[in-house]
Amino acid sequence: MFQKILIANRGEIARRVIRACKKMGISTVAVYSEADQGALHVRDADEAVAVGPSPVQKSYLNVEAIIAAAKATGADAIHPGYGFLSENSDFARRCAEAGIAFIGPSPEAMAQMGSKIAARGIAKTAGVPIVPGTEAAVASAEDAVRLAREIGYPVLLKASAGGGGIGMVVANSDEDILQTFANAQKRVASYFGDGTLYLEKYFQNPRHIEIQVVADTHDQVIHLGERECSIQRRHQKVVEESPSTAVNSVLRERMGAAAVALAKLLHYTGVGTVEFILTGENEFYFLEMNTRLQVEHPVTEEVFGTDLVEWQIRIAAGERLGVSLIDAKPVRHAIECRLYAEDPVRMLPSPGTMTRFDTPALEGVRLELGFCEGDKITPFYDPMIGKIIAAGDSREAARQRLIEELTQIQVEGIKTNLPLLLRILENEHFVRGETHTGFMDAYLS
Ligand code: ADP
Repeated sequence: MFQKILIANRGEIARRVIRACKKMGISTVAVYSEADQGALHVRDADEAVAVGPSPVQKSYLNVEAIIAAAKATGADAIHPGYGFLSENSDFARRCAEAGIAFIGPSPEAMAQMGSKIAARGIAKTAGVPIVPGTEAAVASAEDAVRLAREIGYPVLLKASAGGGGIGMVVANSDEDILQTFANAQKRVASYFGDGTLYLEKYFQNPRHIEIQVVADTHDQVIHLGERECSIQRRHQKVVEESPSTAVNSVLRERMGAAAVALAKLLHYTGVGTVEFILTGENEFYFLEMNTRLQVEHPVTEEVFGTDLVEWQIRIAAGERLGVSLIDAKPVRHAIECRLYAEDPVRMLPSPGTMTRFDTPALEGVRLELGFCEGDKITPFYDPMIGKIIAAGDSREAARQRLIEELTQIQVEGIKTNLPLLLRILENEHFVRGETHTGFMDAYLS
């Protein structure tokens, strides 16, 4: 087993990984930027190394500084968390070259899923249904029009290198494409350094269902059921839950088998998530695979009573999946919501100092927080303060617990999305499990 792990991340996920390491008796090294001096994740770790100024390119994405920090502290492995370098296959390769274990899949598997166009081709080879659309890059607006007519409007222009819902454009007509194509290409190129676009059929109000897979280096691959992440804003998840009210055991096994088939074809190792769209007709289509730990992983942990971060570490150290994991059954319902520092009216980040932050931990509630009272939420990073997860014997029990917790949380000094989260959880359609990706627009706008 590893002796010392460097966590190349910040906020709640760095703290989450440090906690798993402590449980396993592994020493921890935090890294931090100028803005994060004295942050909670730095205080939690056994050691901490400054890796650069506040902008992410100079600190949390600074590969040289992070590898140097691992070498200087004698860390034998690096956990990348999510975001930042977690899906960067070059970084994983650099770790290997430096003799440091990267806690995640092989660079090859990451690279194969890193391009959405390539991923669609591989999923198809694995026998996984993919969203109807183009299987190669679309070079020009004229080509896009021709292909969109074949697919049938509405279509979605998507970035092959995309993530975080950025750069997606819905087109309902030839004119829409001709008007938006060049701009979308430019925007995507500047954001991801790769302007490659492709087309997918645009489904109206599907559900977002994703399957958690876990694979060891001894060819064992399992899935831990689904998470539903349909409650989104600007294609970004806000509330996630498991099980989904739309998935019965037959569908779960079909979707699970598809996700496992893809993982096997990739010789995938570690934890990963295969994302699908589920239509009202119960047809599911592959969207993409995230080759890392997801923000919403605690939902699965609460439902299956397992520790996915611990398994990531064990798998990276060469251990086999244990019987406790292979035989784990979904015994509860869990709902997670993401707490953001944001202005609910302008829907923009609301940085500032949290002069008050009271978070009672009620029974059945799990808090994954990156900050505490007195901390400053800076404009340099994602404005997520943390996650609140409630579990119960039934969906209704989990929902009630989450509402009770959110009602008691007190934040002062910054604005948050707490009122919005409560409106979602109390919405009659949510109560009935009538969720889809257009939920916010349909019921809360
Ligand atoms: P990203 O990697 O940018 O997050 P995804 O492909 O994972 O992009 O999609 C994010 C969200 O965008 C989905 O959960 C869904 O709400 C919406 N979406 C993506 N593709 C489609 C599609 N073909 N039809 C309808 N909605 C889609």
